[in-house]
Amino acid sequence: MQTIFAATWWFGRIGVEAAYQRWQESKESDSALRLLDAVVEGAAAVERDPQVLSVGYGGLPNRDGEVELDAAVMEGSRLSAGAVAGVRGVLPAIYLARDVMQHTPHLMLVGDGAVRFALQQGYEPQQLLTAESLRRWQEWRRQRTAPKEVSTERSPAEAHDTVGVLGWNAGHLVVACTTSGLAWKMPGRVGDSPIVGAGLYADNEAGAAVCTGVGEEIWRFALASRVVEAMRAGYSAQQACQRSVEFMLRRLPEVAAHQCAVIAIRADGEFGLAATQPERFEAFVCRDGAIERVQASSG
Ligand code: ASP
Repeated sequence: MQTIFAATWWFGRIGVEAAYQRWQESKESDSALRLLDAVVEGAAAVERDPQVLSVGYGGLPNRDGEVELDAAVMEGSRLSAGAVAGVRGVLPAIYLARDVMQHTPHLMLVGDGAVRFALQQGYEPQQLLTAESLRRWQEWRRQRTAPKEVSTERSPAEAHDTVGVLGWNAGHLVVACTTSGLAWKMPGRVGDSPIVGAGLYADNEAGAAVCTGVGEEIWRFALASRVVEAMRAGYSAQQACQRSVEFMLRRLPEVAAHQCAVIAIRADGEFGLAATQPERFEAFVCRDGAIERVQASSG
């Protein structure tokens, strides 16, 4: 029985490798839980990597110099999900999102409430700024000129990118998604990534999708559920991603100025991806341990 993992961006390789390793080593007898643990582990590995400046430890901070993490998980049999947003000092945030799903009656906890829950669950507070992310923030502060720019400015292209990890086995679908959000964001800003339907969605009857890019644009189009609904309507994963991105660009042509990207796996295991700026988007797909880099294409 084939097992597939797929994850966004160059660090998606780290994500699918860690997910597949967890899948192989797991002693969990429930295959749905085993698959969930694998994608969570894939996302956590990216969170722990200080080289990744847009996720977890070493992620670029908000405009006040604080790292705020957003994360979510979803599984496609019972449509169960858990999410956290605006969480400071907790790593991996994706573990906490899974804890919300498994140990609370709620779907999302934010800010101080999420941190309090983390402490109750036994997480140790952690400093998430690294010397490098602090240096970049200080440089940004030096270069920043008029404060009035801040309310409208979006982060530069290199200052965002979320890891989304999809998992498929025997028709069961799971997804994990985690990010430090846009660099230099307003404190309290939350993007698409922890929002079920916007940044991620999974339904075993149709497929799963996870997004990355400028969260405000992705969210207004509910991109992940749009792609899943297109698969439910009979489109392939590739067509569903392509059509959904084309719809965004037709409906609001100015979206072309922003990166908005999505990867998807259909209920039968077929993979697809699309992006508003395809030349800048890649993903990694792992089928039973064989890893392939996939580049988005423009047509
Ligand atoms: N979607 C993330 C956010 O808006 C950022 C990204 O994926 O690049 O917070």
